[in-house]
Amino acid sequence: MTPEEFRKFGHEVVDWIADYSANIRDFPVLPAVEPGDLIAKLPADAPEEGESMEAILADFRRLIPPHMTHWNHPRFFAYFANSSTGPGILGEMLSAAMNANGMLWRSAPAVSELEEVTLDWLRQWLGLPEKLFGIIHDTASTATFHALVAARERAGGDHGDLTCYASEHAHSSVEKAALAAGIARENIRRVEADHDFRMRADRLEASIQADLTAGLRPFCVTACIGTTGMASVDPVPDITKIAVQHGLWLHVDAAYAGSAAIVSSMRHVLEGVEQADSFVVNPHKWMLAPMDLSVLYTRHPEAFRQAFSLIPEILRTPYDDAVNNRMDYGVPLGRRFRALKLWFIMRYYGRQRLAGILEGHMRMAAEFAEMVKRDERFELCAPVLFSLVCFRYQGTDDDNSRILEQVNGSGWFLSHTRIGGRKVLRLAIGNRATTIEDVRGAWDAIRRASAFELT
Ligand SMILES: *Cc1c(COP(=O)(O)O)cnc(C)c1O
Repeated sequence: MTPEEFRKFGHEVVDWIADYSANIRDFPVLPAVEPGDLIAKLPADAPEEGESMEAILADFRRLIPPHMTHWNHPRFFAYFANSSTGPGILGEMLSAAMNANGMLWRSAPAVSELEEVTLDWLRQWLGLPEKLFGIIHDTASTATFHALVAARERAGGDHGDLTCYASEHAHSSVEKAALAAGIARENIRRVEADHDFRMRADRLEASIQADLTAGLRPFCVTACIGTTGMASVDPVPDITKIAVQHGLWLHVDAAYAGSAAIVSSMRHVLEGVEQADSFVVNPHKWMLAPMDLSVLYTRHPEAFRQAFSLIPEILRTPYDDAVNNRMDYGVPLGRRFRALKLWFIMRYYGRQRLAGILEGHMRMAAEFAEMVKRDERFELCAPVLFSLVCFRYQGTDDDNSRILEQVNGSGWFLSHTRIGGRKVLRLAIGNRATTIEDVRGAWDAIRRASAFELT
């Protein structure tokens, strides 16, 4: 592609992105498509000859957005939204242009150093202690996997008798990480939670004691700040005490709710995290970063090096003693320049404005919860601590399924979970462009969908 050609289509693409962002409400958040619809519209044979960019972009416009679930839509309330924003998109474009691979300091000094600086800024925003080592991963699942391997490495010895612990409401990625780290499935404990869905510290202690008595070796506990189902917060200070007493590695999963700590009045949500051995938060969830960007902090970078450093001769450089080569802290060798978009976002918004956006999301969630409370046909199913509301129609699971289907077919996208065996609807607010009208509209749609009771 010549520079002239790139310039022409580059402008066209940027114009498309600007229009898409401005007019996103023209798209339904959920496309009316069936599995295989897009495949049926694409040629099965790979192109033998090159095609024009005009043809490719025309097909993009015609085929791709209509087959998309629009995560950037202000009526996307299903999962913890990842809201992409202008500065983040621009950072991604420049990162692709330079195409650096940050495996070593030498291979891309700015990738290593900007990651170090932005993660230290983020640490300050979150009110975390100095001297934390931070590293960017693609997802929280990957970050948690690395934390569990580091914890296993610190425990030493054979894996066969190692046991680890997490709340019954912990994200599935915690169990997956333990399995991938070589922990036996029967040694992964799900600890009972209390009425507010917080891990019970007494049950954790009892479970550890039982394992010790059985001759097993407890090595790691994961606490959750903002569980995926209902955004509950485990009692980190109590869990910390138990972890310290038994020499367990404490990993904290705050993938979604950790971002709330940039709001001054919400700093308390990370209470106790300064004692954790590792901690994960996803700026791609609630800090306006485009997919993907997950941050892992740890007090023990050496445990990660010990687990993962393995340096072939071709990658040795004269700087190895003076720098952190990021490849030494995890599985991937290659490393995208993700810090660039984080740098753009942090500078463009600043903490105050970003905090204001998050506060707005929490205010809207509180207002939605009030609307639910005022309608006696519905009930709230979990405390609303952040921007997630769990609620249900006080009927059968089937009633709730029907409501969800109808609402999702009419311009909104909510999700569901199970709490105490019952089907519960989830409304998660996290898009930068969501307004209170979107939230009130969702409530109207839910009430319309539940009107079957009145007929
Ligand atoms: C979303 C989420 C995860 C998984 O995040 P990925 O980055 O998609 O791997 C893990 N834990 C919690 C609490 C989450 O909300």
